Amino acid sequence: MNLPAHRHVVVIVGAGAGGLTVASLLKQARPDLDIALIDPAEYHCYQPAWTLVGAGEFRPEATRRPMAAVIPRGVSWLQARVTAFEPEHQVVVLEDGRRIGYRFLVTALGLQLDWDRIEGLTDTLGANGVCSNYRYDLAPYTWQTLQRLPRDAQALFTQPPMPIKCAGAPQKILYMAADHCRRRGQAVHAHFFTPGPAMFGVPFYAKALDRVVADYGITPHFGHRLIAVDGPARQATFEVTTDGNTAQQTHPFDLLHVVPPQSAPDVIKRSALADDSGWVSVDRHSLRHSRFDTVFGLGDCTTTPNSKTAAAVRAQAPVLVANLLRQLDGRGTERRYDGYASCPLTTSKGRIMLAEFAYDGAITPSFPLDPRVPRRSYWWLKKYYLPHLYWRMVGGHLGPDWHRARRFPEPLPAFVP
Ligand code: FAD
Repeated sequence: MNLPAHRHVVVIVGAGAGGLTVASLLKQARPDLDIALIDPAEYHCYQPAWTLVGAGEFRPEATRRPMAAVIPRGVSWLQARVTAFEPEHQVVVLEDGRRIGYRFLVTALGLQLDWDRIEGLTDTLGANGVCSNYRYDLAPYTWQTLQRLPRDAQALFTQPPMPIKCAGAPQKILYMAADHCRRRGQAVHAHFFTPGPAMFGVPFYAKALDRVVADYGITPHFGHRLIAVDGPARQATFEVTTDGNTAQQTHPFDLLHVVPPQSAPDVIKRSALADDSGWVSVDRHSLRHSRFDTVFGLGDCTTTPNSKTAAAVRAQAPVLVANLLRQLDGRGTERRYDGYASCPLTTSKGRIMLAEFAYDGAITPSFPLDPRVPRRSYWWLKKYYLPHLYWRMVGGHLGPDWHRARRFPEPLPAFVP
């Protein structure tokens, strides 16, 4: 066996929301801890604001900072890509062949956007009205396309099969686009295509979203999966599943907002860290690997059945750090992650339904108000306060956590989107 060139007490792979937050919290708790953070990226992005960029409500440049500026002080940043994991040797391998050893590994690589799995998509992304808020360089084109929509335009918004990061993002831009056109008195035919059977995975919120869809006159298409795009001809092809039978359907478009299929990073899929689904296999409460005691994972790359969001990272990071330090010291109480995630659903350019939930569909809002009601206050929270909270979080300042299980009457309250 090749011996590692370096060995650190903690190696964190991925300096995204999860990796940075864990590195910062560990450094706060143990200033002398030897931590290496591995990530090839030049910039760290605040991805949740890309939804607002696509609606002309946020400057793209304000969503990213140079990586060098956000790496916590005292943490060694290895600017490189990990190409293999060898958990049985407690080693990760970098693209230049370097072998980095660890006592504890934290996997925080996020997920992989599989643009190529939709035929013709990469040839036309960013042109011919084909846009996506799922990339820094593409989100501004969503707003450009929206502003140039002709009268009676066909505007299509797609969602791929789950799991994806921020399950609400495919429909956030749908509502803001519909609201934009309505304010301008512009007729538009807005369609939402999803392989699923409902607007949202948590029924409590799905019913409220049905009302938003009806209010805008949006046509939902359930059981539809985008499989091909012809940009120059402005045609999108869907595989349609009805009662177990599949067929193909083609729709013309003036705007096509695509959310790409998503999966675990290939480097994880081919490693011993993955289970059959390809994601890093961790216990859903302790965030420790199901087979390798010295490995932890958080964020989008793991098997935990929560909604993949930065809000989930906010709840996971302190649990992971406590459990890792407990193992390092050989004492302490194990902490448990409850599956919390949040999805601020922009039901218009001015109001948000702040969907917060945990494992098994528990409704866990931060505030004692019915979370199905879109509110102006939450819009300001999303646009101004959450970005601030995010940059503080990756710096190790977690801010308040008020979420808890609360009960609300079944009937939908009155509201406007
Ligand atoms: P990321 O933050 O994606 O970071 C992964 C890091 O791993 C990257 O820096 C990458 O360079 C690095 N990496 C990848 N491969 C390797 C490798 N082989 N070697 C080394 N490093 C590697 N969340 C919310 O909470 N609220 C929202 O409203 C919201 N809206 C969203 C809207 C959009 C359009 C998008 C795209 C996301 C949204 N999210 C939202 C989701 C949120 O951004 C993610 O869930 C969060 O960033 C996950 O953190 P992470 O650390 O797991 O992954």
